[in-house]
Amino acid sequence: MSSSILVTGGAGYIGSHTVLQLLLGGYKAVVVDNLDNSSEIAVKRVQELAGEHGSNLSFHKIDLRDKPALEKLFASEKFDAVIHFAGLKAVGESVQKPLMYYDNNLIGTIVLLEVMAAHGCKNQLFMVGRRWYHAQRNPISATNPYGRTKLFIEEICRDIYQSDSTWKIILLRYFNPVGAHPSGYIGEDPRGIPNNLMPFVQQVAVGRRPALTVFGTDYGTKDGTGVRDYIHVVDLADGHIAAVNKLADPSVGCEVYNLGTGKGTSVLEMVAAFEKASGKKIPLVTAGRRPGDAEIVYASTDKAERELNWKAKYGVDEMCRDQWNWASKNPYGYEAPESTN
Ligand code: NAD
Ligand code: UDP
Repeated sequence: MSSSILVTGGAGYIGSHTVLQLLLGGYKAVVVDNLDNSSEIAVKRVQELAGEHGSNLSFHKIDLRDKPALEKLFASEKFDAVIHFAGLKAVGESVQKPLMYYDNNLIGTIVLLEVMAAHGCKNQLFMVGRRWYHAQRNPISATNPYGRTKLFIEEICRDIYQSDSTWKIILLRYFNPVGAHPSGYIGEDPRGIPNNLMPFVQQVAVGRRPALTVFGTDYGTKDGTGVRDYIHVVDLADGHIAAVNKLADPSVGCEVYNLGTGKGTSVLEMVAAFEKASGKKIPLVTAGRRPGDAEIVYASTDKAERELNWKAKYGVDEMCRDQWNWASKNPYGYEAPESTN
């Protein structure tokens, strides 16, 4: 019988791509999502893309903080592992509404861990943010409530493992996921004004926004703009499958891996690659540095390559090609234009 994986937040951007790779890899995937920042259409499309494996996907509209509902799910199914993506992730919103972020991300995670423990399910992968880390070293700082929820979640996981070493926990730190499934059928569909570079560029390209504002042109980088480690979302999804497979290794306790490409790309280089892929001109407006932004962030990938036997395959040209394929086929994301913005 195939292993059954619970994926919280599985209707979201990274979750939907990961669920598809799980299904194609022969796993059974059970998605829990409250659809707060996603659409059930994404789940349906994943099911279609998975073809004959599509019947191994089930969806439950549950808020993680709803303990009785989660209890009921765990009582009805046995999970071999949990991949935890569910959470709110808008940095600016977290500054405006800190309690909403602490409540959703921390209480949601604690309830999930309690229910897992009660049902003897102690295999899990946790996602943690990227901005607060340098390479494989420890967290540097969190400059906003969203970032702090991610740091706290990581510490909670370490404490749980300290208290009970029968848990197996893999903490994945990843960098800047971009792109979409090559089919153009699933992709990123953020609500409101996008915070991140590529969703914004995509919305300029389809005419939803007039220009991209470049935050900072005076960094000590090749062209003065910020440098990041962009990773194709399908590579990232495959990294999660490699980590799920790693959970079977008896030596796993509480581990941390970086999922990046190890290569840095500037804002202007990303824009140029997207213009080439789409044939669209992206008008630019320059502005000062965005508060809290780092100059250069990229991953050290040696440990993931060595121990997970995983390495990113795609470069920025493929990322931009697939992002444009998704954007041009779905300029307003999963929903009709009148229901967005
Ligand atoms: P996303 O918003 O597309 O997906 C998160 C999903 O979680 C959404 O479908 C949302 O509806 C669901 N959700 C939120 N709160 C929930 C709750 N209480 N109960 C049930 N479902 C809930 O985000 P994503 O980009 O796919 O990111 C997934 C995870 O990875 C998040 O935890 C995010 O913080 C983390 N992460 C993302 C990035 C990035 O750049 N996208 C980078 C680093 C870390
Ligand atoms: N960026 C930008 N304009 C935008 C969004 C982002 O110039 O509208 C820049 C940002 O300053 C950073 C890079 O693009 O140098 C990546 O930003 P993103 O928010 O996507 O990722 P993060 O900074 O969280 O790594």
